[in-house]
Amino acid sequence: MSEQSTDLVVVGAGPGGYAAAFLAADLGIGVTLVDEAPNPGGVCLYRGCMPSKALLHVAKVIDEAKHAEAWGVRFEDPTLDLPALRTWKDGVVDRLTGGLGQLSKQRKVTYAQGRAAIADPHTLVVRGTDEEQTIRFDHAILATGSRPSIPGALALDSDRVMDSTRALELPDVPARLLVVGGGYIGLELGTAYAALGSRVTVVEMTDGLLPGADRDLVTPVAKRLATLAEAVWLETTVARMEIAGEGVAVTLEGKAAEHSGQVFDRVLVAVGRRPNSAIDGLETTRVQVDARGFVEVDAQRRTAEPSIFAIGDLVGEPMLAHKASHEGRLAVEVIHGSKALFEPLAIPAVVFTDPEVAWCGLTETEAKAAGRPVKIAKFPWGASGRAVTLDRIDGLTKLLVDPESEQIIGVGVVGAGAGELIAEGVLAIEMGATASDLKMTIHPHPTLSETLMESAEVFFAQSTHYRGKAR
Ligand code: NAD
Repeated sequence: MSEQSTDLVVVGAGPGGYAAAFLAADLGIGVTLVDEAPNPGGVCLYRGCMPSKALLHVAKVIDEAKHAEAWGVRFEDPTLDLPALRTWKDGVVDRLTGGLGQLSKQRKVTYAQGRAAIADPHTLVVRGTDEEQTIRFDHAILATGSRPSIPGALALDSDRVMDSTRALELPDVPARLLVVGGGYIGLELGTAYAALGSRVTVVEMTDGLLPGADRDLVTPVAKRLATLAEAVWLETTVARMEIAGEGVAVTLEGKAAEHSGQVFDRVLVAVGRRPNSAIDGLETTRVQVDARGFVEVDAQRRTAEPSIFAIGDLVGEPMLAHKASHEGRLAVEVIHGSKALFEPLAIPAVVFTDPEVAWCGLTETEAKAAGRPVKIAKFPWGASGRAVTLDRIDGLTKLLVDPESEQIIGVGVVGAGAGELIAEGVLAIEMGATASDLKMTIHPHPTLSETLMESAEVFFAQSTHYRGKAR
């Protein structure tokens, strides 16, 4: 049993925790980063964002090769080498987590591998495989993230029922895959498996895919999914699952209940995530956990225990890596003496389907619900030269503009590469840019980024390539 003292201990080395620890080290704060994994990375790098994006890249290549025939290039049908595909995906993860390990060492962050338990508001015990360390700290940042939520009806003890972690291991390409949940994970992994050759059915509880996103942004994804998937069952839930021979038979409730009894080779359950707030010893502190399991924090990410901060998925929606990183760095600034607050005007959301969907700031749905008047300017990608050259006119860029100040308060994009384009929208909102600012900013031609400038032109009914008006 060893003992050490540090200024700051960060529990959880995901994008929230490692970003916090690295900034602390850069600011000269002594920091220990604790995680059960051998290197920083967390769910995002080991079994989330990164391996899924590696698979989605492969899916995109397969899909483009298929479409290339229309452009005068014919490829043979792809042959999958699953072990090689897994090796490539795992190589991506190893490269990134190894890189973070090096960055951590170079910054002289102390890395403690093991499971953390809180002993008191200034003491942590880390149990590794063969040793136990006691770490005394001035401040702690809890960044323990979240895990898949599996409700009772979907908790069948069988390897045929997968959560996102298991699905990313790519155990095989099931002939028939049922995806429960038409949200981020269901659609990203569902489309990846469909491209690899699975016949995919999506079952979604609400009346549309990606609830929360504006419907006009979801439509192109839904259309493409309709060609890619065997079926999409909306307003339907899975009431029961049971093993049936080599597969899983499902009993459905709701609109598609008539399809009950169908058998799938595998089922992917992706119906949301739950915060990892059951941290051993948390009850020895004043930290409060709300009814949904989120740790309560103030605008500086400080819990009710003054020495302890909490960030990321652990403290609430949206459960997104970049929100966690921002909060982690903010908490470190506060510990370092800054009066900073967590007050973003826009947190981008990106769903890496094909086409991608991305939005930031206010959505049209939120504006309607709040009765807030907004002007909406839309630029359809059919009017974008670059989209035509890519044969990807299935896109839309839209701006939500405050009618009084003409400031941009929301941006939504659906289309190839929307995830890259949305950053300009975030900057526009954060900088208080007006539609005129965006209109007057020279964008490179021919690019998809012009759709942002042209949607601002639409606001003034002056778009060069589209004769639309804001409404
Ligand atoms: P989600 O909240 O995005 O989607 C869950 C979906 O399941 C919803 O559409 C919901 O209506 C539906 N649902 C819930 N219960 C159901 C049931 N019993 N039967 C059928 N449908 C049901 O959750 P997720 O896809 O599991 O992802 C979890 C979180 O992880 C996301 O909210 C997101 O914050 C994060 N994530 C982000 C990205 C990204 O940034 N690209 C990718 C993956 C995950």
